[in-house]
Amino acid sequence: MIAALMLALQLVTVTVPSPSPRRSARALTRPRVVVVDAGHGGRDNGMSGPLGASPKLFEKDITLDMARALRAALIRRGISVIMTRSTDTLIALGDRGRIANQSKGDLFISVHVNAANPHWKEPSLARGFETYFLSEAKTEDERRVEAMENQAIRFETSVDATRNDPLSFIIRDMAQNEHLRESARLASLVQNGLAGMHPGTNRGVKQAGFMVLVTAFMPAVLVEVGFGTNRADAAYISSPVHQRELAETLAAAAVTYLEQYERKVGSAP
Ligand SMILES: [Zn+2]
Repeated sequence: MIAALMLALQLVTVTVPSPSPRRSARALTRPRVVVVDAGHGGRDNGMSGPLGASPKLFEKDITLDMARALRAALIRRGISVIMTRSTDTLIALGDRGRIANQSKGDLFISVHVNAANPHWKEPSLARGFETYFLSEAKTEDERRVEAMENQAIRFETSVDATRNDPLSFIIRDMAQNEHLRESARLASLVQNGLAGMHPGTNRGVKQAGFMVLVTAFMPAVLVEVGFGTNRADAAYISSPVHQRELAETLAAAAVTYLEQYERKVGSAP
């Protein structure tokens, strides 16, 4: 099973153009559903920052603001939206995927805020955006973000054994692998879109074993919209104006993805 996964990983090198901004999904022949997942929530604040400065931001607040802005941007484009949470509440990682599956989502976008490793030489200087799709983490940096985002599990009251080992879960559950290439394509569209407007560093498309993505059986990405530990990024992602711009970019990428997918497979679901 591991060999099969590795083989699949070698096939996911994709090149896609940047999504065009502010276009409605006119080309789509049936209603589409995007599941928007605001990371963390409730007693799980996620990361906080910036380093050595105030006021402090909490990741759970930025992700919720961003998710609401993304919902509005998608609805303006004629896309239906399911939110895994729309208030400051904690949803278990496994339940986020379940919500996505029950709502028959066409794709899943999880929004997060990155944090520098305090052991880095100048952690407060790290900034920028990166987009993940579900796979095995390959680099130390990917493993850092994977561990950080999967930590949310410690806030959950009922933890079943399977959730403690995301990779074995991935390998056992090959259903997600059907979506690996599609998730990689969606991640490229999102990352390319952000590259056209985000003032921070383009850190690229990455792969890691996020539990929140494991349980969503549809193309799924996790986007780190900036480093909350960096002052400039923190100011950028806290600004409602820039949150709306980021949301427009994510929505445009989602629409472009859905249109390209429909052209490829016809109007079949
Ligand atoms: Zn997070």
